[in-house]
Formats: sequence, structure tokens, C-alpha cells
Amino acid sequence: MDIFKKLFKGESEREVKKLWPIVALINGCESTIQPLSDTELAAKTIEFKKRLADGATLDDILPEAFAVVREAAKRSLGQRHYDVQLLGGIILHRGGIPEMKTGEGKTLVATLPTYLNALTGKGVHVVTVNDYLSRRDAVWMGQVHAFLGLSVSVINNDSSYLYDKEQKASEEDATLAGEIGAFRVMYEFLRPSTRRQAYEADITYGTNNEFGFDYLRDNIAYNAIDLRQREHNFAIVDEIDSILIDEARTPLIISAPSADSESLYATFAGIAGKLTLDIDYTIDEKLKAIQITDEGITRAEKILGIENIYTEKGVKYVHHLETAIRAKALFLRDREYVVKDGEVVIVDEFTGRFQPGRRWSEGLHQAIEAKENVRVQQESRTMASITFQNYFKLYAKLAGMTGTAETSKEEFYKIYGLDVLSVPPHRPSARLDKHDLIFQTEQGKFTALARRVKEANMKGQPVLIGTVSIERNELLSTFLQHEGVPHEVLNAKNHEREGEIIAQAGRKGSVVIATNMAGRGVDIKLGGNPGAAEAYDDVKATGGLLVIGTERHEARRIDNQLRGRSGRQGDPGETQFYVSLEDSLMRVFAVDTIKGMMGRFGIPEDEPIEQRMITRALENAQEKIEGFNFDSRKHILQYDNIINLHRQSMYARRRKLLLGSNEEVKEYFDGLIADTGEFGEDTDKHREVKIAAIGEDAFYDVVRRLALQMNDTFWVDHLELMDYARSSVNLRAYGQRDPLVEYKHEALRLYREMEDGIKHQILEMIPRIEVGAFKKAEAELAKVAEQMTIAGGANTGSETTNTAKNNAQGGEGSHDLGRNDPCWCGSGKKFKKCHGADA
Ligand code: ADP
Ligand code: MG
Repeated sequence: MDIFKKLFKGESEREVKKLWPIVALINGCESTIQPLSDTELAAKTIEFKKRLADGATLDDILPEAFAVVREAAKRSLGQRHYDVQLLGGIILHRGGIPEMKTGEGKTLVATLPTYLNALTGKGVHVVTVNDYLSRRDAVWMGQVHAFLGLSVSVINNDSSYLYDKEQKASEEDATLAGEIGAFRVMYEFLRPSTRRQAYEADITYGTNNEFGFDYLRDNIAYNAIDLRQREHNFAIVDEIDSILIDEARTPLIISAPSADSESLYATFAGIAGKLTLDIDYTIDEKLKAIQITDEGITRAEKILGIENIYTEKGVKYVHHLETAIRAKALFLRDREYVVKDGEVVIVDEFTGRFQPGRRWSEGLHQAIEAKENVRVQQESRTMASITFQNYFKLYAKLAGMTGTAETSKEEFYKIYGLDVLSVPPHRPSARLDKHDLIFQTEQGKFTALARRVKEANMKGQPVLIGTVSIERNELLSTFLQHEGVPHEVLNAKNHEREGEIIAQAGRKGSVVIATNMAGRGVDIKLGGNPGAAEAYDDVKATGGLLVIGTERHEARRIDNQLRGRSGRQGDPGETQFYVSLEDSLMRVFAVDTIKGMMGRFGIPEDEPIEQRMITRALENAQEKIEGFNFDSRKHILQYDNIINLHRQSMYARRRKLLLGSNEEVKEYFDGLIADTGEFGEDTDKHREVKIAAIGEDAFYDVVRRLALQMNDTFWVDHLELMDYARSSVNLRAYGQRDPLVEYKHEALRLYREMEDGIKHQILEMIPRIEVGAFKKAEAELAKVAEQMTIAGGANTGSETTNTAKNNAQGGEGSHDLGRNDPCWCGSGKKFKKCHGADA
């Protein structure tokens, strides 16, 4: 354990200890709260609000408010918060992360800080991992909040709701719920609402994607009335590790069709074809990188017929050149990809499987298409993007909860300033975590695993088998079939169906194969859901839920999540990982040590060994990989922070233009004129003429719209240029210089250029604008905004973008801006004449 962790551990325990007196205060309030009638209890909300208005702080009223929530939960749900749950609630209120194991009742814990902070009227967002859980939690906890007179809402992918206990499920929903066997309410108690209404509620449940996309949507809106979100006051992120760590590299992106032409890719594919290895460019095999030499640059300039690619064509052309060379030198046909039916299909480097639908990002896929002379598929262009970290940093206060934060404490603290505090369980854990069983071959592993499952199944013990991928599920299923074990394989991408099956995984004799993350957040009761006492005791007698992992994951955190499925609230349970030397983790990291050990012990091939030492060796390997991944996330963040600064200042200005009075727009305009000297003064003549003709109000309204459009147009270009700059600082040789520093210089230069561009463009347009034409352009713009694609996908390095995932997240199918349609930028010109014009 390094010093940091040691310090941290002691401190964390001390911190938790300090909170117990507050728990005692809450408990002390119970005797005065308990005798209140329902009406009197609900009236507490009004009283608290008044006290806050009179100057009390949230901390002042915390003990009494928590006691009120506890009493309301007792009356509406029949559940009284345990003391450790109060502890968790306090930590959340303080903007920390209580680590509370699966089944400890985090959903209920969240009601405490949610209620307290919602009293300010500024809104509280509760973030869940999928739409289905957002509805479940809203309907479930909505009862507590509604009891106390607070409003609750849900934002889903394509719909929004307000909690309303009078609302019945529609016929259709009820039938659907029946068909898929939904075990909890689907849409009962949820009344459809507008997005804006949902955000006006005191408490809003929704996924990280929806909250993030709504933020982006608000920042491409052209009318104040279209804004959805209010301020970012307080967010509680459930399963926070999955969002801030696992999904940290995946930014949210809203995109529209791009202007980059096929011919540009073809041109550069042609140039790359003429360049020679070790003269024009060099390859670094280990880093999977290329470097262009001065000779290479000169040759390319010659072919393009230009003097200096950097000054004449800028980073965009350099990026194209580099990408084309990478496509040629590092991506080989039938190794990294195949060409099938006129398409470039990625080959997975570990499994060798084809990955149709996935595409390399940042133009690499297009460059390969051009190289192979197949159709270059249209690129999409980023209109707005943000990473989850930066989205969640917008909140005045952020908190999160999860069962597995311990192994990522350092990252939470160093990157987000979030303290992880371990909350003791309500009942001590009775789960047995066994040492790994290690096999020489995968075949041997699965054979033994199937036998083990059969044994458990014979005595009725429920088994949940976790895998790292959906493909693995199928393979394992055949082994179980061979043993004649009836089982359920979870391949569905449907959260409700998945949730239903997982919820029943604790039934007697149940065997479920699922990916580690499937049905996350769903409670597994022994004996099944909803549980009967006899069924529960029956299963308890078999030893409780047996969880088997089929492979160690790269991060111990994910393994712990799987284990956490068993042993809920002091129940008995058992967990064990089956691993083989052929697993990818073993192949890459641990194999030599372990092979050596197996040799030394003289273990036959088909026999497992269960060895503390080997489990330790594996965990060490995992710890190393975790550290490596942490570093790489930190690295990405450092780059991302720079564009985030730009985003903040652009969006703040945008906001002011959108919502500000004409007086504020006038100030902005005066500023532009002052900044641009003579050029501005010229325009100022024009201003007087225009105002004389159409009046001051109309004039500044036009300026407002024009300024918004120009800011947006330049911002979209800027996003792209920053992307190019980022990949090019890593590719170009800078000697000893730090690429991050270079990137910062470049970023500053690009930002200043953008600012100048915006100013000049606005002032240049003023004389030319006719009010009538402008109104028309605005209507067209609104139409285009509707068409814009919303997608979540990776756009860093050579990571891939998963189209299937995009579909699930935001809906595809709007890449259909025709060449004769008005351009999305609102210029009023046709797309093909404006941003669609060939570069
Ligand atoms: P977690 O999110 O921590 O894994 P859940 O919020 O899904 O846990 O809750 C697990 C189960 O515990 C649920 O069935 C819930 O009803 C139950 N539960 C939580 N808190 C209490 C309580 N104070 N009293 C009774 N049951 C509770
Ligand atoms: Mg949960």
C-alpha cells in the first residue's frame, strides 16, 4: 500500500466516525416527529422552506429534515432508514461518495439529501445508469417525496414524465409490461410532460446521457423558449464509478453531416501512396505511430502544388496527410481490417472477429476507404460535445454512490475532489469469497465450471455466472447444455427484460449467464422477487446465491461488482472466479509468473489450482493495469480541460446573447466595434442607417441572432481544429518538448483566431443583412436543428465509434441533410454552396 492510500484509509475511518453524532441528532428528533399527523408531517416542508428563507442553512435543518424523510418513508413505503443509511445520506449531502455495498438500499439513502437539497427550490438531479432505473426509482421514491409535497419527474430518451400517483398505465403499456414480464411498474404513476416541465420539478431522475444531451441541446438552441434545463444545482450520481471512470473516455456528441469531401480523402490517399518508408516517414511499431520527415512534407507540398502546407492549408491538411499515411503504414488489409462487399470492416485484435458497423474515428476509417478505393462514407461533424466529467463539474455540488469505489479512491479524489467514505453494512457480510481456480486451458475451465454449476443446481442453489462479453455467454451456454443444466442466457439489450431476469436470479434452481454489468442496479432477493418467506428460507439453506466469474476483468472494481450480487444484507452467499491461462488478462500480464508456479507445483493440465499466491499475483496484475488506465484517463483529461475552458466561455457568452436584453446585446455590439478599430467604425455608420430604418429593437434582435449563428459556426470549426491540433501534436516531432504544452499554445492561437473571426464576420454581415431574409433563414435553421443527429461515441485517438450503441442512446437516421437543403449554419444558402461545398 502506498503512503497516499494508507493516509487515506485512516482518514476515511476518522471522517466516518465524526458523522455518528449527527446520526444521533437525527435519531433524537424521532420522538417529536413520530406523533405528527400525515398533514402535519407534510407541513414540515413548508416550515423548512421558511426557515431557509429566514437565513437557516441546509446543515442547520439537516437532522430534523432527515428525520422527517425517514418518517415519510416509513409511512409511504413501510421502510425506515437504518442508521448506516442516515450516515450515507449525510455523506451525499456533503458532496462525497459513500461506498455502500449492493443491496444496502442506496436508492432509499438518496431520498435524504435529495429532499433536503430540493428545499432550496433549485432542483436536484438523481442520475441513474439507464432509463428503466430512472423510472423505477422515481416511481418508488416518488412516494416519499410526494408525501412531503415535493414534485418528482423523469427524463427518458424520448419522453419525460411527472410523478403522479393518480396516473394509470395505458392499456398499451400494461399489455407490453405483461408481454415482457416487467416485474415492476412501467409507466403507472408517470404522467407524460414536456422536457421543460420535467426540469422544473423539485427532483428529476434520469440517465447521465439524457442530462448531458439536454445540456448540449440547450446550447445549440436559438430561442429562449426551447431551453430545457434550469441551473445545475446538485446531482447525485448512482453507480458513479461506471459514469466517471468506465465511461470517462466517451464524450457525448451531437453531430450533423460533414462537409469534408470524398475527393480530399482520395487526394491524400494518392499522396500517401507515393511516399516512401524511412525517407518520407518513419514508423514507431511500439507506439503504433508514424512520423513525417521534412522530406515527406516537402514531397507532399510539391504534389499539392503549394509552398508551405502549414501556413497555406493549416492543420486540417496536415491531419489529412498524417491520417492517410497511418492508413497506409499501420493498417493492413486482412490484419487490422478486411474489405467485404465494398466496405472496410474492422477486425478485433484479440478475438479476430469482424466488427461490422464499427468505425475508426477522426477520419481514419474514411482514409482507409480511400486507400482501398471503396466508397468513402460520409463523416459527421461535431456540433457540440462534452465529456461526463465536464458535464458533472457544472453542478454547484456533486455527490455519488456505489458499492465499488474503494479501489478507485485515489482517482475520485485526485481528479474530482470527491472523498470516498466506506459506510459499514447494516448487517455484517456472510458472503464467502473464495480464491480463484486456475486452469491451464479455457476448455478445461469451462468444463469444470459447468460441472460445478450442475452440482449447485442439483441442490437448488441459484447460480449467477458473469462473463466479460455477450459472445462468451453463447460459448458457456453450450457447455451447460452439455451437462443438461437448464439456464437462462442474457443477451437482450432491453433493460426491462434484463432487469426482470436478473431480479429472479435468486430463485431456487435458477441459473443465469449474464455479462458482468447486466441488470446493474437491480435487487436480487433470495427466493425471487417479490419474495415469499418460505422461498427465502429454502434458498438460504442451499447456501445462498452462488456467483461465478468466468474471467478476471481488467479492473478489480468490476470483479467486485459481480461478487456484490451475492450476500445482500447479511445473506449467505458464495463467489468464485474461474480463470485460465488463455484468458486475455493472463495472456498479456500474468502468465509467466503463474505458468512458472504451475510448473513448480507439477499441476496436470486439466486440474485447477486454488492458490492464494496466484490470486495475489492476478490482483497485482490488475492493480498495474488499473494504474495504467488511470494515467491514460488523466492524460485525456488534461487535454480535455483545455477545450472545456473554451466551451465554458463560449457557452456563457451564448447564454448571454440568447437570454440577455437588447441593452446587453447593444453592449456586446459596442464591444465588437471598439475591439476592431477602423473596421468597426465603418460598420457603425451602417448601424445608424439600419436603426433609422427598422428601429432599435428590431436591429438588436437581428444582431442577437446573427451573433448566435456566428458564434456557433465558428465554434463548430473550432471543435474540429482542436481535434486536429490534438492528434498532430502527438504525431509531430517536438524534440524534448511536451506535447501538452504545444497543444496549449496551439489551442490559444486557435481560440484567438476564432474570436477574431467571429467579430469580423458579424461586423461584415451587418451592412448586407435584410431583415426579411433573416427571418426566413431562422425558420430554416429550426428545421435543420430538428434533423441533427444525436450520438454518443468515442472520438479520441483511434478508438472506434460503436454505431449500435449510438442507436441505443440517441436514435440514428438523421444524416440526411440533402445537398440542396438549406445549410445547417443558418446562412440561408444551400448546403452544397455553404458548409457542404467541397473543400
Ligand atoms: P442498492 O442500490 O444499495 O444495491 P437497493 O436500493 O436496490 O440497494 O435496495 C435493496 C433492497 O433493500 C430493496 O429491496 C429495498 O427495498 C431494501 N431496503 C433498503 N433499505 C431498506 C430499509 N431501510 N428497510 C427495509 N428494506 C430496505
Ligand atoms: Mg442501486
